[in-house]
Amino acid sequence: MENRAASAETREIERTAHTEHFDVLIVGAGISGIGAAFHLRTECPDKSFVVLDAQEDFGGTWLTHRYPGIRSDSDLYTFGYRFKPWTGTPIATAREIRRYMGEVIEENDLGRHIRYRHRISSASWSSENRRWTIEATRTDTGEQLRFSAGFLWMCQGYYRHERGFTPEWPGMDRFGGRIVHPQTWPEDLDLAGKRVVVIGSGATAATLVPAIAGKCAHVTLLQRSPTYFITGRNANELADMLRGLEIPEEWIHEIVRRKVLADQAALVQRSFSEPEALARDLIAGVRAQLPPEVDVDRHFTPRYQPWRQRIAFVPDADLFRAVREGHASVVTDEIDGFTETGIRLKSGDRLEADVVVTATGFDLCVLGDIAFTIDGRPLEFHDTVTWHATMFTGVPNMAWVFGYFRASWTLRADLISDFVCRLLRHMDARGATQVTPRLRPQDREMSLKPWFDLENFNPGYVQRGMHLMPKQGDRLPWRHTQDYWNDRGDLPAADLDDGSLVYE
Ligand SMILES: Cc1cc2nc3c(=O)[nH]c(=O)nc-3n(C[C@H](O)[C@H](O)[C@H](O)COP(=O)(O)OP(=O)(O)OC[C@H]3O[C@@H](n4cnc5c(N)ncnc54)[C@H](O)[C@@H]3O)c2cc1C
Repeated sequence: MENRAASAETREIERTAHTEHFDVLIVGAGISGIGAAFHLRTECPDKSFVVLDAQEDFGGTWLTHRYPGIRSDSDLYTFGYRFKPWTGTPIATAREIRRYMGEVIEENDLGRHIRYRHRISSASWSSENRRWTIEATRTDTGEQLRFSAGFLWMCQGYYRHERGFTPEWPGMDRFGGRIVHPQTWPEDLDLAGKRVVVIGSGATAATLVPAIAGKCAHVTLLQRSPTYFITGRNANELADMLRGLEIPEEWIHEIVRRKVLADQAALVQRSFSEPEALARDLIAGVRAQLPPEVDVDRHFTPRYQPWRQRIAFVPDADLFRAVREGHASVVTDEIDGFTETGIRLKSGDRLEADVVVTATGFDLCVLGDIAFTIDGRPLEFHDTVTWHATMFTGVPNMAWVFGYFRASWTLRADLISDFVCRLLRHMDARGATQVTPRLRPQDREMSLKPWFDLENFNPGYVQRGMHLMPKQGDRLPWRHTQDYWNDRGDLPAADLDDGSLVYE
């Protein structure tokens, strides 16, 4: 009954408004969405497609974040696409990453497929019409637009772009200075002569502190607990050596990717096989960069095992140099509350500040805040079970790119792109217009687990939003391992006709 009412409503919408149809609609023009567009154009050249993004340009994360020093913390040989060589330094600024993405768009004539300032508010699947209806609003004109698509490729990332996550501390409203979140960095913020406190201990804080040290009166990194860091030169010796031999960039890209991946695999493996020894080595690496008066046990000795949270790479040890040179200091304590002039700590100490930067993380956002319905029923995403961590039970013709946290996000974006293109070709070969993951009889007794294994990896924003996320099963194709080495075998080999995908 409800379904019939919904499809009547969809028909009514289609009669009364102009609907533009595409075979595939890609949500998001970040690194995943641009990669998806490239793969679609090269692997499924007959498919029509459009990329919609709420922002005014491409880049996603690398456009949103404009705080001083913004840079990757993965190497660009693996954060870059498989298909386009990276020729710069391994750690890249947001500007360099956007320039690289811009070249991909230009070289492959993708620009004409992308529409900016289109915020999608709803997506409704109709089994009767075998298509999605997508409602979007032009953020510049307010115009309401309607699209339909045979397949929805979700490249919307995992956090809310409009604002970051800032905890509520008592007295924040009393503070006479400015409180800013790195995600919404004010263009007019002048730090010259200011005392700055950066709250946080992750990659953002580690990037921001050296970028502003020496340009403000003093910067204090205030953390509740320490993080693991790795330092090294922002250079790749193997790449430099191969370049010296005039090896073609395509070869260098592939060889260096393999080397980086092998090194990362060894590090992850060590974090399981000998976590204490690895922790000791990481901490010793930091200690070597700091003057003896810095209390490394207190400020740089994490309480968890390495890799339970992302290990931040500090290129050229710039964070530690800032501490060494006296421009920056580290305080490990808890916030009791804000005062008119700074922060009161639980130890009783006070930090005077003119500007407080809350590098306290992201606001996890599921499916881009898009209201999904399937045949008129709201999608309860947390009740679904994932198929290879990219499709979801009961959700037809939709794939989501959710990358890695321990390895570069783009490694998975490339793998999923291959998969989606293979699936689309497979559907055409079968004459199917609908594909929906469904638990088979043999899967129904399977034990279900959260989207992520929190024992394995547990950053704050994932923990905060876990209840919103789909479940995973205990076996293929229902597992989400967050492991590139599994996925790179499993996804290309996934049997599209094993009964877990139902075609209509
Ligand atoms: C500061 C920072 C540094 C990072 N560094 C690394 C790193 O070094 N290595 C790594 O692997 N990962 C890193 N990450 C994780 C990073 O987010 C991903 O690697 C990657 O950039 C995500 O790309 P994406 O295209 O999937 O999503 P995003 O970059 O989040 O882009 C999603 C796009 O979708 C659009 N969108 C979302 N919802 C809608 C909607 N409803 N309507 C229209 N458009 C919508 C957004 O406007 C956005 O442009 C970092 C993240 C941050 C925040």
